[in-house]
Amino acid sequence: DATVERIAAGEVVERPSSVVKELVENSLDADATRVDVTVERGGKDGVTVADDGIGMTEAEVTRAVEEHTTSKIRDIDDLESGVGTLGFRGEALHAVGAVSRLTITTRPRSDRDVDSHRGTKLTVEGGEVTSVEPVGCPEGTTIEVDDLFFNVPARRKYLKQDGTEFAHVNTVVTSYALANPSIAVSLTHDGRETFATTGQGDRRAAVMAVYGRDVAESMVEVSAGYEADGGDEDGTLPDGPLDGVSGLVSHPETTRSTREYCSTYVNGRYVTASAVRDAVVSAYGHQLAPDRFPFAVLFLDVPAGDVDVNVHPRKLEVRFADEEGVREQIETAVESALLDEGL
Ligand code: ADP
Ligand code: MG
Repeated sequence: DATVERIAAGEVVERPSSVVKELVENSLDADATRVDVTVERGGKDGVTVADDGIGMTEAEVTRAVEEHTTSKIRDIDDLESGVGTLGFRGEALHAVGAVSRLTITTRPRSDRDVDSHRGTKLTVEGGEVTSVEPVGCPEGTTIEVDDLFFNVPARRKYLKQDGTEFAHVNTVVTSYALANPSIAVSLTHDGRETFATTGQGDRRAAVMAVYGRDVAESMVEVSAGYEADGGDEDGTLPDGPLDGVSGLVSHPETTRSTREYCSTYVNGRYVTASAVRDAVVSAYGHQLAPDRFPFAVLFLDVPAGDVDVNVHPRKLEVRFADEEGVREQIETAVESALLDEGL
């Protein structure tokens, strides 16, 4: 998928949340059913992501961090000079290791056709592999990233207060938790659990874990453009760029004072799209009090040619070729979902 490729190519290690994003994506790629994210001081002092995925052999983990070794020094120089365009498709671990103290503890899952009896602990400091040793550990992978940018003072200085950095981390982990209700995702900050999904439920259960019971119970299901289960009826979706819209939106009285509780996924990938947020708000019409915004978790199916996710790779802002069309489809889909519930 070219869309996904472009996002990956444009990724950079900008702040703790970009590290969290890369590590969580790796865990999901590794077939994990559990992903636990722990951060200290907004992630500036430490980020740990533990999973129960397929794990790595000693050879695999060594390869995973040593790939592209020759470009390490140049990468740091680029960061220092503020170029800030370190693309790292296939290089995330390497890139993170170059600007932090990285510890990977991993053991292959026993269902793999490799020696799964022992684990490996590998450490990297500022791009140098400092140790590789056998260790006893559970199946899966735990990656700890300490002291991000300790060797790149210009970048370290640019990091914001703990609360601000944590808000970015929270947005990232929340977006994966809501999109993957069958994976148990947890987030802990400075020793306090922010949320934990069970991995056993549906989308509403994930919303409950993240946003609380009141929000989850008020949510109305949106499903437009899809064949209803076993039947032949489609939800209301006017012609336009989207093939389908599904998800959950809140009761008009369950609101917050900011727009940030509207999460949008394009073809499964978390994005920010102001057009979508605006359309959701319009769908509520006068039912919404002034300056109040609903909760929404919406999954859009868009043919690849109709969306450009490359406007700003780091910010994940998307542009639709026919924004007006998307707006209209979403507004109609949400409106009819609310109407169905008598709202
Ligand atoms: P990419 O994900 O694009 O392949 P990364 O630098 O993010 O590049 O990761 C390098 C490799 O390390 C991955 O391809 C994968 O083989 C391995 N890896 C990274 N994280 C994990 C993990 N949590 N579990 C298993 N393997 C992992
Ligand atoms: Mg990766």
